[in-house]
Amino acid sequence: MKRGASSIEVKKLNRNKVFRYLNSRDRVSMPDIAAALGMSRPTVLQIVKELKGSQIVQEVGEFESTGGRKAKAIASVRDACYAVGLDITCDHVSLVLTDLSEKILRRERVREAFVYDDPYFHKISRLLESFLSESQVPKEKVVGVGLSVPGIVDQQGGIAYSHALGLDHVDGKGLTKYISYPCIMMNDANAAALAECSGMDLSRSVLYLLLSNSVGGAIVFHQDILSQMDWSIQEGGLRDIYMGDDRRAGEFGHMVIHPEGDTCYCGKRGCLDAYCSASKLAGMADGDLSVFFQGLAEGNKVWSAVWERYLDDLAIAVDNLRMCFDGDVVLGGYVGSHMGPYIEKFRLKCAERNIFGRNGEYVKACKYRIEASALGAAVYQIERYIDRV
Ligand SMILES: [Zn+2]
Repeated sequence: MKRGASSIEVKKLNRNKVFRYLNSRDRVSMPDIAAALGMSRPTVLQIVKELKGSQIVQEVGEFESTGGRKAKAIASVRDACYAVGLDITCDHVSLVLTDLSEKILRRERVREAFVYDDPYFHKISRLLESFLSESQVPKEKVVGVGLSVPGIVDQQGGIAYSHALGLDHVDGKGLTKYISYPCIMMNDANAAALAECSGMDLSRSVLYLLLSNSVGGAIVFHQDILSQMDWSIQEGGLRDIYMGDDRRAGEFGHMVIHPEGDTCYCGKRGCLDAYCSASKLAGMADGDLSVFFQGLAEGNKVWSAVWERYLDDLAIAVDNLRMCFDGDVVLGGYVGSHMGPYIEKFRLKCAERNIFGRNGEYVKACKYRIEASALGAAVYQIERYIDRV
């Protein structure tokens, strides 16, 4: 907590803590909240009363008695609000609906070639409206829409650069101009990292590595670091993600792993992207990554050698991230979603390089194998709503 916080700020912070605790569990009792958060029972009682008044918390029965009076079971009203995430890629638009649970309630993926022009802007707004009406979500319950794009989003919400979409310094307003809800645009890797960290006790920092047709990443600091930096967790925004001075942090795809190696699309030689993009593997199987992994599972010798080399290159990058940031490394994106059966083998490769403990346990496969970016963009809006509780 910030030094010198006023009693109103403390009250707001406590109310927020109670709601977050409640919302991260199915149902809890008030004595449980008081014990877990180190608050007095009268304080918790008062906060729960206020939250019930705001219709975001409800009683859902009673717990079995442990001797004394049965404790009331309290839960958040998950459908008190909704948010939608749209992930825009060069040839698809994905839509994901979530509520206070921050889980995927409904999703849809539509083939739509990206063009930065008015008909396209109209199209995505129409997609959003029909998605919401098919989901039977009341408009007034939609707190916002998050737009995830494969590019660098500047401070003003414009797109500073996107190789995938072929954009260079566009104001980005076009993409949101026909959307009739509060809308935010964010980088796809940052969005995916937010989804990955949702519901997670942020006692660890996370380096998210997005291994899709290009390689990106995000740096998520744990909350103790944030409080040391005195970044208020009440201010909303991308509080968990380190953005960098010019919002270009986490561009892990362009760290050099082989000096004078293969040429990257950025013009530099030896970038991680040139070795570990998903297309490097999919290219072996006519562009179909699932076919590649199927062949791998069936013992295709050529592809096994390619995969081995891929993992060796990836291990260099993962070890570099670990050395720089000392956090968990989560492998996401198209390749990350296929990583499950190979994660133990990959951890051994990372462990060989780890000078601290020879341990690879810090490497994890992503938990969201599909639509992580769309979900994360929606989660951002839900988190902003929760910040204001
Ligand atoms: Zn590069």
